[in-house]
Amino acid sequence: LWQQVASYSTETPAEEDEVLTGKEEVHEFKTETKRLLNIVANSLYSEKEASDAGWESIFVRELISNAADALEKLRHAQSMEHMDADKPLEIRISLDQDKRQFVIQDSGIGMTLEELNENLGTIARSGSKSFLEKLEKDGGSGSRENIIGQFGVGFYSTFMVGDHIKVYTRSAKPGSKGYCWTTDGQGSYTVAEAKNVAVGTKIVIELREDSKSYASQLEIDSIIKKYSNFVGFPIYLNGTEV
Ligand code: ADP
Ligand code: MG
Repeated sequence: LWQQVASYSTETPAEEDEVLTGKEEVHEFKTETKRLLNIVANSLYSEKEASDAGWESIFVRELISNAADALEKLRHAQSMEHMDADKPLEIRISLDQDKRQFVIQDSGIGMTLEELNENLGTIARSGSKSFLEKLEKDGGSGSRENIIGQFGVGFYSTFMVGDHIKVYTRSAKPGSKGYCWTTDGQGSYTVAEAKNVAVGTKIVIELREDSKSYASQLEIDSIIKKYSNFVGFPIYLNGTEV
């Protein structure tokens, strides 16, 4: 009996779903971001040649690398302040084939409202800018995998496989609120305050019909093993460590 009691008490309580508590504010993407989204979601995807088949799977690598960056930043912040981690530093991917969903959650540094607008609303980062310039210069010719490999489209690569993206995030800075950022990639995004958001970031991708294979555990398992073998944090896929 005591063993049972002990195992009950160490069990983490079931997490509650995130709930919007604030009004959804609508923001326009910057012109450049719209251009990039357009290219990523349409031309790049539909003009792909047979040899490019499956290359859009790099979105998994991009999201895992962002999660690992965020975990590394939290670890660094914690060591600077001589703080102990109160939560394990990890990446969790969960898939739902019925709902055609791909979800990735990290317990990293998260984003404040300002960071959310700055990081996901603009393409100030140089990688995306060079990517755009390069694409426009050679009209998208040449190996796409090469261009991507060179510059990386980062977060926006999710639009190759998803038509609705939701980002829940809460900064690890004490006292930070949680937020929900959503977009259908059509030129604007919304931001609203939300409760039950864990520290870190959770990204929910509603997969397009033609990308539903990315809700398959077998498929994602092999992509992770192929591209994200050297990530310094544990990656769980549907609850099991990869
Ligand atoms: P890059 O990783 O090259 O900076 P990305 O397009 O992949 O570019 O991501 C843009 C920015 O969004 C990141 O620099 C980071 O500030 C923020 N970001 C993306 N994913 C996360 C995440 N999981 N946690 C915290 N911040 C993130
Ligand atoms: Mg990145």
